[in-house]
Amino acid sequence: MKLSAHRAGLPANVNMITGSVLTPLRESVSALPAPAYRQEGGASSRLAREKIGSRASRLGALREASVSEKEDRIMDQKHIIREIVQFVRGYAEKVPIVTKWKKPLVGFASADDPLFPKLKEVVRSSHALPRELLPSARTVIAFFIPFENALQKENDQAGFYPARSWAVAYVETNRLISELGEHLKSLLEAGGSRAVFPPPTHNYDPAVLMSDWSHRHIAFIAGLGRFGLNRWLITEKGCCGRFGSLVTEAAFSPTPRPGQEFCLHFGGAAECSVCVDHCIYDALFIDRFDRHACNRHLLKNEGYFSNLETSDVCGKCGCGLPCSTRNPMAKQSRT
Ligand code: SF4
Ligand code: SF4
Repeated sequence: MKLSAHRAGLPANVNMITGSVLTPLRESVSALPAPAYRQEGGASSRLAREKIGSRASRLGALREASVSEKEDRIMDQKHIIREIVQFVRGYAEKVPIVTKWKKPLVGFASADDPLFPKLKEVVRSSHALPRELLPSARTVIAFFIPFENALQKENDQAGFYPARSWAVAYVETNRLISELGEHLKSLLEAGGSRAVFPPPTHNYDPAVLMSDWSHRHIAFIAGLGRFGLNRWLITEKGCCGRFGSLVTEAAFSPTPRPGQEFCLHFGGAAECSVCVDHCIYDALFIDRFDRHACNRHLLKNEGYFSNLETSDVCGKCGCGLPCSTRNPMAKQSRT
């Protein structure tokens, strides 16, 4: 039976937010050269390899084991979650950065999940399926790296332009996600399971401002949250943070998707449209989103932060909200 986008839990007009909140992705995934997903060189990859060097050699000894043995011994879900949490926690000790993050959330989806083909309808027809990135894919791993609470407050209170700390966080978190993705890829491959890590950002089609691998939609399918009126994905730790995902042939159990809305507006627990009020740039409305108006504003902001790496950010419709740092419906159901 064909599911409607609504029943599938995917708002039909929600795609833009993968990048538009923080940045439009510049090139479509399919336009990227194949080595962009698989390259072994580069600073991030070297960093990941150094970090896992001893582990990789230990794991290398297990290459002769059967696939199921390897999965049992190496590729258990808790191991992957622990690696993500520890990588994020330890990142600031290795790299001079100012951004602070809370403990990441991690979700898993089967590559056979029937919602993946829906993304070709809900996002765009060229949205990739897991097996289009990796023919032997069995699982998609998604993670959310929440910003420390103070960051969204700063951005909310910064006025017309975003806070500089928000722009810096965008740059630094993208770098973190790139390195984390390469680290996980190396780890999985050391255990005998191939993996593909699509870049965290700038995989946008500039003509339509849509992505061919929407980390945010992938995170939805992997059970990390529900979409809000602001088109951001609201997780148990709110919506202010960044998503990453990778595809692997390792088998993991899927994370159950939440059964109820996280957005107050959609949940009917309260009249809420604070996010819409925060967009004074004629882009976000209760019943529609103008991604081109949003993008024009992001490009203006990019000029404002011209002394930073590409930081076409805004984020005002995600900051200073009941859902910025938590799931407000969880609070509703507790009270
Ligand atoms: S501010 Fe309110 S309406 Fe907007 S996404 Fe958050 S909970 Fe939903
Ligand atoms: S506040 Fe408006 S312009 Fe800014 S990211 Fe949200 S939708 Fe785009």
